Amino acid sequence: MLKSDYLNVSTRTRELQTENAFVVLKEVNELYHRGRDIINFCIGQPDFDTPEYIKQAAYYAINKGRTGYSESSGIWKLREAEYFSRTRNIDVKPKSIVIANGAKPFIGYSILSVTDYGAGHEVLYPNPGFPIYESQIRAHGAIPVPLNLRENRRYAFDMQELEQKVNHQSRLLILNSPHNPTGGALTASDLNQIAEIAKRYENLWILSDEIYSQLLYDDAFTSIAEIPEIKDKTIILDGVSKTYAMTGWRIGFASNEKLADYFSRWITNTSSCACPSQYAALAALTGPQKDAERMRTSYKRRRDAIVTGLNAIDGISCQKPPGAFYVWPNITDACFQLKINDSEAFRKKILYEAGIAALSDIHFGTKIDDEGEHLRLSYATSEQNIRKGLQRLREYINSNC
Ligand code: PMP
Repeated sequence: MLKSDYLNVSTRTRELQTENAFVVLKEVNELYHRGRDIINFCIGQPDFDTPEYIKQAAYYAINKGRTGYSESSGIWKLREAEYFSRTRNIDVKPKSIVIANGAKPFIGYSILSVTDYGAGHEVLYPNPGFPIYESQIRAHGAIPVPLNLRENRRYAFDMQELEQKVNHQSRLLILNSPHNPTGGALTASDLNQIAEIAKRYENLWILSDEIYSQLLYDDAFTSIAEIPEIKDKTIILDGVSKTYAMTGWRIGFASNEKLADYFSRWITNTSSCACPSQYAALAALTGPQKDAERMRTSYKRRRDAIVTGLNAIDGISCQKPPGAFYVWPNITDACFQLKINDSEAFRKKILYEAGIAALSDIHFGTKIDDEGEHLRLSYATSEQNIRKGLQRLREYINSNC
């Protein structure tokens, strides 16, 4: 909670949640400034530099004076770049695509476009999940309905739970595959079952957050929008942040034929349009894909290294996640051995006493009964850091048991 009790700020502003990754990052940076040696597994962004050909395209556009407003829906060439059609088994028309400053704003725009404030409209979302979902659902006056993701289902939610929770007040179902924070992914069979349920609810939209679509390591990516009966009610959300190491450039895109014009209007009402980084994003999508492939190969190697390393530590077990760049190890036994109450206390201990920065499960939603204690580690860091961090963790646990 911010220190705003003495100000006349709205309840929704006072209660606005945040991404705790940023809060923990501040804590980690303070330790860095005090000279502490910290190995950082907190950050949900690529550690690679943006590929050179993308930077060159941005310099070129700026030198040519392409620095003014664009249409609110984004530059036509980027909408025309056929990214969705190339990466999914689907035909998406450019006029159904809207560009914004990052994928994130579309989370709010989607909720705003399909729910009314205080009308009792419900939004289903994954728990644990990207914290901005719940925060935006509440801020826009809808009712958050968490769908719990469990380790024994490899972090795909239970279809029976979806059946029980969806109803005629449900307006939006948020999917996120590959998933932050667990790295889990919905299989084609999961998507078919979700589609079967969703198509029975006329007023229900699906926001399919596919920002990690190109970071799926063992299988080809499938979008729920590829299921014909569900395509019209699905908003596909993706962007350049993760695939092309472009988090700070702030370009994301969403597609839905019926909602595209409404999204553009929300953009006119907020940022007016996305920034000139659109030209960099255009180069990213239409240029050679070998840099994206190189980064993907590297994440896959790191994933394998971190999973093997974590499973070799007493008290920790970790599934091999199919995608994104996160692992979600179960540390219940380690907490027990070290007589530490929970994952958040464990996170603090390893930060201050072992110099390892991670996030804990409480940063990603409400704890689920009987799920035990988990951390989130991002492996968007070098293999050397992964090795060093895991060695520290092993030594810390061994010497404190
Ligand atoms: N969705 C998820 C699940 C994410 O993890 C993130 C970034 N951490 C975003 C959306 C936002 O992406 P962008 O940087 O393009 O706004």
